[in-house]
Amino acid sequence: MNYFSLNTPDHISSFKDAVIRGIAPDKGLYFPESITPLDPSFYETIENYSTVDLAYEAIQQFIGDEIPEEELRAILSEVLDFEFPVVELEKNVATLELFHGPTMAFKDVGARFMARCLGYFSKQSNTKENVTVLVATSGDTGGAVANGFLGVEGVDVVILYPKGKVSPIQEKQLTTLGQNIRALEVEGSFDDCQAFVKKAFLDESITDHIKLTSANSINVARWLPQMLYYIIAYRQVKDKAEKLVFSVPSGNFGNICAGIVAYKLGLPVDHFIASTNVNKVIPDYMDTQTYTPRASKPTISNAMDVGDPSNFIRIQKLFSNDYDQLAALFSSESFDDDQTKAAMLKLFIENEYVADPHGAVGYLGLESYMEHHPDTYGIFLETAHPVKFLEVVEETLQTKVAIPQQIQKVMGGQKKSVEIATYEELKSYLLD
Ligand SMILES: *Cc1c(COP(=O)(O)O)cnc(C)c1O
Repeated sequence: MNYFSLNTPDHISSFKDAVIRGIAPDKGLYFPESITPLDPSFYETIENYSTVDLAYEAIQQFIGDEIPEEELRAILSEVLDFEFPVVELEKNVATLELFHGPTMAFKDVGARFMARCLGYFSKQSNTKENVTVLVATSGDTGGAVANGFLGVEGVDVVILYPKGKVSPIQEKQLTTLGQNIRALEVEGSFDDCQAFVKKAFLDESITDHIKLTSANSINVARWLPQMLYYIIAYRQVKDKAEKLVFSVPSGNFGNICAGIVAYKLGLPVDHFIASTNVNKVIPDYMDTQTYTPRASKPTISNAMDVGDPSNFIRIQKLFSNDYDQLAALFSSESFDDDQTKAAMLKLFIENEYVADPHGAVGYLGLESYMEHHPDTYGIFLETAHPVKFLEVVEETLQTKVAIPQQIQKVMGGQKKSVEIATYEELKSYLLD
């Protein structure tokens, strides 16, 4: 499958080069040249498919012949080796739990898929030159990337995180793995980390010597496999969900955008709700048809503190840049921290369900939509295990959250990191 750059449509790239580059040379996002709906019989008989068979059917066209069938199936079975349960809270309200993977955040699937694709391409090339994944994290992404790339041959990972500004659990997830994963503790903010990373990608005195790539949701190999969540959920609710609605807690809008790709593949979905915290560039866009990026504001659902969501341009493209087409299937609503905490409390008291702040934002968007559309079956995505946001969950619910075994395992690990304060220090570290 070929991909074109959304900045210059005649810039074409193979899947392989799109994965290795991350972003097109003209700084555009890659977009698949075509999306062919699956045969309706696929959805009619979906309960007969294993998770790996279903995933292979859905994603194969986006890779084409660039990864052989056997290899792609092996990758998918490693990536999808945990559960994605739909948990019903009320008769027609359910949550899709995406947090049962190794780092307990939904980014595990995308990070692991990208890692294995890169590993495959690196094994195929005869240059023996390693690829270095350079990534800045405010907490959640780094853990999934570190875990996803652990032990992948031909790939080195360098993670930058702001010193003292990630939670103790998150820091352990970033710094204790060893092997091909290295952590740099930056004296500064997340924005400083991100600025260093962006500068490094453009710095020829680095890129002449090492092959750098990024691991955020701009990368097609991290973005596309997220479509599988929606298809796997459909397999579980098919018989009761005549009118199916998904509410997706959104930051960079990669996850919901992948859900819309699943819709374009023929998945019977009635509506998508992008639920956000007070960083509401998209809810405002849907109201005014004017896109105004802003500096992000800190919230308790901080993995969604994004002021210029990178994947929205892909969503627009999926609807041929036509606002009316988009608005027929998609809406977006914003909620503040007080509303989020009230929703967490309500879910806990009325449904005995412990939601993390991101899932709670998803719940709020669904609740609001279903007030006017009571005849639908609504699923909100729970994107992180509550333990990942332990302090705010325990304080809001006045209860203790048990620490799952995945997290206990890393808590005992030895932290290893290198402290840096300036870009020059990053550069000499990379070139060393
Ligand atoms: C990254 C993240 C999100 C936002 O996902 P996007 O694809 O960026 O919209 C939501 N919740 C959690 C827990 C996340 O880590």
